[in-house]
Amino acid sequence: MTTAPAHQQTIRGCSLCPRLCHHVCPAAHGAGSEEGTAWGLMTIVAAIDEGVIPASQETAEALYRCTDCGRCTAFCKHGNEVGAVLTAARAEAVSSGHAPEAVAALELELEGILSDDEQTPAAHLRARHAAEGATALLAGAHWLESDASAARLDRLMLLLNALAGTSIGLLFEGTDGSGGGAARRAGFAELADRQATELATLAANRSLLIVECPDAAAALGTKAVHLTRFLAERADAVAAICVGLAPATIKLHGGCRERRVVNLTDHEIRLLAAVALTAEPLLDLRGEPECCGGEAIYAAVWPDDAARAGRSLVKRTLGCSPTATSNARCASHLQRSGASATFAVIDWVLARCARQETP
Ligand code: SF4
Ligand code: SF4
Repeated sequence: MTTAPAHQQTIRGCSLCPRLCHHVCPAAHGAGSEEGTAWGLMTIVAAIDEGVIPASQETAEALYRCTDCGRCTAFCKHGNEVGAVLTAARAEAVSSGHAPEAVAALELELEGILSDDEQTPAAHLRARHAAEGATALLAGAHWLESDASAARLDRLMLLLNALAGTSIGLLFEGTDGSGGGAARRAGFAELADRQATELATLAANRSLLIVECPDAAAALGTKAVHLTRFLAERADAVAAICVGLAPATIKLHGGCRERRVVNLTDHEIRLLAAVALTAEPLLDLRGEPECCGGEAIYAAVWPDDAARAGRSLVKRTLGCSPTATSNARCASHLQRSGASATFAVIDWVLARCARQETP
């Protein structure tokens, strides 16, 4: 299936391992079994590799039983890269026509094609905030989910313009540019390569691109800055704009994969402090942020497992405490899992500046 020596080491090592990373795996909580662990996944890949079982629709579905959180690799004493093997195996599943239907349905979303419901708010926002400008925000499509989220993006643009002292352009991730990481993890290698090239061109035509996507931030290096970091570096100015707020304490749920791509914890703490929120990071016993199982590809193919992984995390750590989390997708997954007072960091900031109790 995949011949790269590092991949072979991972496939053999994990399939012969006594499941040592089982306890850190959110997919194990989601499946309630060993199937979604590094051991389970690599055992399937090894069996196909050795011709014990044929590649099929069923084995392809199993390849998506993983949130790509990277916690197994962080835990593994051998540094085995389960995610890299799965990315290669998923690309083969897509090219051989075995990818699950839910993955094929994701392709339009990954290509950045807006749904009918997203077109109107996108057009409205584009009319208010020109795409031109030496500095632009590459905003995630999650802002287009409802009138309320579109209104919050409007407020974010006003805040960014005030902080930058100039007009900031507004672009939408996917439609205007994308880091390509999600497409690659889903198995769409050609699309991912094309998106990476297009994003580099987009960034080359600006003095600075502010991005929400960790993959884009990592891929572009100094040509881009993550939105949270951009705001945290201007925390004093944020505090000067959003004055007179009552202090409060909030739990900070670290994303999982995002932390491994761009670690935002310190920036998030500084940014929340600017709006008078003291953030206490929620970590597991080993000092690592846990994963809620809400990653988009996993949740699309295994929705029931993703819901169980979220409920398990809420039960273990989140309770009903007010909680901030790194991205909007984690926030909505945790809300559906029962953590009703959990919102994205940026939503807490915008709500506090608008003097709302919750976003
Ligand atoms: S990632 Fe490491 S600890 Fe986990 S199953 Fe593979 S070899 Fe074992
Ligand atoms: S990347 Fe995360 S979800 Fe996937 S096998 Fe490793 S720990 Fe489990």
